[in-house]
Amino acid sequence: QAKREGRGLVRIASRALQERVQTDLELANDLRWALERDELLLHYQPQFDAHTGRLLGAEALLRWNHPKLGYVSPARFIPIAEEAGLIPPIGSWVIRRAVQQTVQWQAQGLRAVPVAVNLSAIQFRDPMLIAEVHKVITSAGMDPSMLELELTESIAMEDSEFTIGTIEALKGIGVRLSIDDFGTGYSSLKYLQRFSVDKLKIDQSFVRGLGMRGQDDAIVSTIIGLADNLGLKTIAEGVETPEELARLRHMGCAEIQGYLTGRPVDSATFAAVLRAGCSAVIAELESASLEL
Ligand code: C2E
Ligand code: MG
Ligand code: MG
Ligand code: MG
Repeated sequence: QAKREGRGLVRIASRALQERVQTDLELANDLRWALERDELLLHYQPQFDAHTGRLLGAEALLRWNHPKLGYVSPARFIPIAEEAGLIPPIGSWVIRRAVQQTVQWQAQGLRAVPVAVNLSAIQFRDPMLIAEVHKVITSAGMDPSMLELELTESIAMEDSEFTIGTIEALKGIGVRLSIDDFGTGYSSLKYLQRFSVDKLKIDQSFVRGLGMRGQDDAIVSTIIGLADNLGLKTIAEGVETPEELARLRHMGCAEIQGYLTGRPVDSATFAAVLRAGCSAVIAELESASLEL
């Protein structure tokens, strides 16, 4: 009896496993068509000066509007795209789309702010990346400093001639570089100084612990101090509460991005953010001079 139940469990477990594997495969198959079926789009999340509330930039975040499932999170489908060999076309589309949109906003007389694009390690390792970025920017007629590429720590910290060469070549084009989710991977201080990145994006897991876990306060202020000493900018990601903002300001964090000041929104909605040009939330908190 017990043995039979045991087998049943195994069967159920393996069926669940199968469904999961199939779903990933199905998603990969659907993703192959997503571009030509026009199911991919970019949302934009605003980035603000933590003190003045001035709008400083936007991060482009990929969205997949699946015909049956609705919105699928990039945290789920980007790894699938990487596995399925779909990053080259999707990644190229993201860069092109973000650049075109930025130029279009400028042409509409809206305030121009730099747009940040997430780069997969697969794109970074592609020897064609430099030429591609250069071509997209040139043919759109965009100031290269209006494009920021977000690298992950694991890409940026690989100590190879190739990595150094790629980073130097990207800087040579004139684009800005930042390190995403900073603090969650391995960073060598030596390479940080050697690589000419512009900005560290403090991972939201540390922001979440501010004021509650002493170690997170210590980590965040250490990152800010490190960035200051190396002449890099810092932006805190995932800022959700006025308390988090107040602590970050107190620690000298220059820029913030998060649900507190604005969720990622579609391009039409973001045009209104560009028109406003500043964060009402930060302005209000500033006038109320929120302190800890
Ligand atoms: P990321 O680049 O670190 O982006 C920040 C993520 O945090 C976004 O999730 C954003 O919507 C979310 N977020 C922003 N503010 C808050 C907040 O206050 N609270 C919380 N809880 N979350 C916040 P999203 O859009 O789901 O993207 C997840 C990840 O997928 C991104 O993390 C990035 O690694 C990846 N991704 C997104 N778009 C692309 C893309 O075009 N290419 C590549 N390679 N990866 C992408
Ligand atoms: Mg990012
Ligand atoms: Mg991040
Ligand atoms: Mg991330």
